[in-house]
Amino acid sequence: MTACRPAVAANEKIPFVDLSPQWRQIAADVMPDLAKLFDASAFTLGPWVERFEKAAADYLEVSHAVGVNSGTSALHLSLIAAGVGQGDAVLVPANTFVATAWAALYVGATPILCDVDGDSWAISVADAQRRLTHAVKAIMPVHLYGQPAAMDEVCSFAARHDLAVIEDAAQAFGARIDGRPVGGRGLCGCFSFYPAKNLGAVGEAGLVVTHDAEIAERVRRLRHHAQIRRYIHQELGFNYRMEGVQALVLLHKLRRLDGWTEERRQIAQRYLSGLAGLPLELPKVVNGDHVWHLFVVHTPERDRLQHHLSQRGIGTGLHYPVPLHRQPCFARFDFDRNSFPIADRNAQQCLSLPLFVGMTSAQIDAVMAAIRDYFGASA
Ligand SMILES: *Cc1c(COP(=O)(O)O)cnc(C)c1O
Repeated sequence: MTACRPAVAANEKIPFVDLSPQWRQIAADVMPDLAKLFDASAFTLGPWVERFEKAAADYLEVSHAVGVNSGTSALHLSLIAAGVGQGDAVLVPANTFVATAWAALYVGATPILCDVDGDSWAISVADAQRRLTHAVKAIMPVHLYGQPAAMDEVCSFAARHDLAVIEDAAQAFGARIDGRPVGGRGLCGCFSFYPAKNLGAVGEAGLVVTHDAEIAERVRRLRHHAQIRRYIHQELGFNYRMEGVQALVLLHKLRRLDGWTEERRQIAQRYLSGLAGLPLELPKVVNGDHVWHLFVVHTPERDRLQHHLSQRGIGTGLHYPVPLHRQPCFARFDFDRNSFPIADRNAQQCLSLPLFVGMTSAQIDAVMAAIRDYFGASA
């Protein structure tokens, strides 16, 4: 079948991401299962959520996994469970999706933004060290774009200063360091199953993983209105429950994830070799096994290159165009906005190329040809 795929037609658009090939692979398995779930009215929490939690804990090599309704909720409950609150501070990379920092704000803590490493684009421990104060209680490394942060360094820094490590693994389900999946090295690991993530639900969902039984129990209670028994609420609780439908779909996707990750790696490999030699900074794999949630290149000509690709019907993304230290929502915090040179460079130069499960060889070639053409290189 693959051999007979037509080349990309001159007017064919290449989206930044297309989730429909994933659905086509699982639809025949999911639909009859969904009928069972509806028959059982297992809409929120329930047997499918428990099955997914078990499967995810096994896959991620952790003792406990607690399903929640988003990655943002996972981060929020993890900080509460870590005992971070009013008057505390949390080290957060400036180059991430804003939700990492929301978690600190939700618990009344101050996010202390840190610059990032120019190879992995994850938090710079050297910069975190410079910004450390006595108020800091936790550090939140983000495994950005699907590449692990330098966790050995993060964990020894955290151990020296008695900080909780809350991993934001929203973009990196299945990424590994020394063969072990990310998420299980700190106190908590947080995952998002937003549909476009490398493991995505058919709506909103998230997960907290931990090796600590008490933390797991607390998160389990907090997501369900902090009930210790029915209608007895121990503390301020939340409705952050995972839906059955999301767990069911995630179970089917998890079985295929290794194959899909391999497919992502092959697409990334094609880009890395096909774009080598152009005046374009390609992603570097410096920490462990990258799962290629995003393929992000850097160039000072980012806006023009993006426009050129868009003219040819090729979708791209920016992750992220405005770093956290320049967001209006952090205006009330007092710190030097000009002390984040690497995060600023990322914001100005980053460009995410199309990379998704089911992307055809012809589509990959068309993206590369359009980029080579922009730089005046022959195809
Ligand atoms: C997607 C994402 C989140 C938030 O996850 P939601 O499920 O959308 O709430 C948090 N952090 C990072 C780094 C993300 O990419």
